[in-house]
Amino acid sequence: MSVEVKSLNEECGLFGLWGHPEASQVTYFGLHSLQHRGQEGAGIVAADNGVLRSYRGVGLLSEVFREDKNLTRLTGETAIGHVRYATAGGDGVNNVQPFLFRFYNGSLGMAHNGNLTNAASQRLELEENGAVFQSNSDTEVLMHLIRQSKKEIFLEKLKDSLRQIKGGFAYLLLNETQMIAALDPNGFRPLAMGQMKNGAYAVASETCALDAVGANFIRDIQPGEMIIINGDGFRIEKYTDETNLAICSMEYIYFARPDSNIAGVNVHTARKNMGRFLAKESPVEADIVVGVPNSSLSAASGYAEESGFPYELGLVKNQYIQRTFIQPTQKLREQGVQMKLSAVRGVVEGKRVVMVDDSIVRGTTSRRIVSLLKEAGAKKVHVAIASPPLRFPCFYGIDIQERRELIAANHSVEEIQEIIGADSLHFLSEEGLIEAIGLPKKDGKTGLCLAYFNGDYPTPLYDYEEEYQKSLQEKYSFFRN
Ligand code: AMP
Repeated sequence: MSVEVKSLNEECGLFGLWGHPEASQVTYFGLHSLQHRGQEGAGIVAADNGVLRSYRGVGLLSEVFREDKNLTRLTGETAIGHVRYATAGGDGVNNVQPFLFRFYNGSLGMAHNGNLTNAASQRLELEENGAVFQSNSDTEVLMHLIRQSKKEIFLEKLKDSLRQIKGGFAYLLLNETQMIAALDPNGFRPLAMGQMKNGAYAVASETCALDAVGANFIRDIQPGEMIIINGDGFRIEKYTDETNLAICSMEYIYFARPDSNIAGVNVHTARKNMGRFLAKESPVEADIVVGVPNSSLSAASGYAEESGFPYELGLVKNQYIQRTFIQPTQKLREQGVQMKLSAVRGVVEGKRVVMVDDSIVRGTTSRRIVSLLKEAGAKKVHVAIASPPLRFPCFYGIDIQERRELIAANHSVEEIQEIIGADSLHFLSEEGLIEAIGLPKKDGKTGLCLAYFNGDYPTPLYDYEEEYQKSLQEKYSFFRN
């Protein structure tokens, strides 16, 4: 059966807290440090003696909870929260999480990070069985599966349902008696757990959020695991043994915050190694190294250390502008880059510059920055990208799903160099990336998802298979909108 895949992508941030007198306030702080994972919506569901309440809205966390009362009415010792990053279209508060479902026999709060690969076909089946969806988010699928499960107790219903959904997912669930965190069998998205001094348990998409609230790291949630937290403490259960660790490499390259650790690897250190390996693999003659703020500063510092060229502040970022990437049209994206970055003439004038960036997706950023640096008098601009060329879409929660959007899917490195106007262009090799992150190899496996670079998807693509196969046969022209 072929189904149209129209669900929204969810690549978001999760934070949950159990056992703190001001759970929703602390959750707010936790979410604040995850704001880079999503800026388009935010919400919190809190439980107070078995009563669940929620507040959510569109925009940044501070905009959603601008009025104190929105937070203070979320009383109770337990809360889960979410910051949302969605691609253009289908917005509106209905898709903002956490969702709060109310049933005759209880309530359920639910937040999700990732993208399901069989959500559309599951939804079709569920709707045929009478389910009525309130949003067009994948997340709701799990709730309907739980409700329709024939198992007796809630945890068994949940396990049964988690086994039916495919793709990338980290879930946080909250009902009257427990908070549950669950991770997909590949562990595409990071999810970590910690404990505060007062004993409260925290679960977060990234360890930086645990640090922000003063929680000590306990462990990463492992693929196929559920962590159940209740009045008795926490326990771990597996809903499947068929696991295969494949952490999204884009988390290390771009998405996560540099002060987070994923699977024990510090993100800044991994990025610094990426820059270092890149300088080793593809040396160029230059005077200074300049990183694109902020996501490339770690890689640029590694590049500078390895090459021996001084690291200079050749680009300055206006900190008050949101990421350019999410602007819906090419023209707006380019305008965004212009507003966001300035080249420092006094630094780059007359210099041979190595411009380090973490990745090239559509090519907008690199093209614009090369011209900014040249306009500011740079003699040469060598572009060094601290990841391999992105040639394949991601179906597990990073928001590129169209091959036509990926410049490296449609052009050779030489062509891209010409398009962005660089004097040279080098990408990090896949081997360099794997080594830079340095996860321990297991049975020859890297522990990473590298599908973006090599098309080697760690799972079947289910609803996306047909679309993906079709995209492999099509040729796209550069910057088609
Ligand atoms: P582009 O201008 O389309 O080539 O985008 C490249 C820039 O977007 C890089 O400088 C990255 O820092 C950033 N980036 C990479 N992947 C993503 C993503 N999935 N979402 C948002 N931004 C991204």
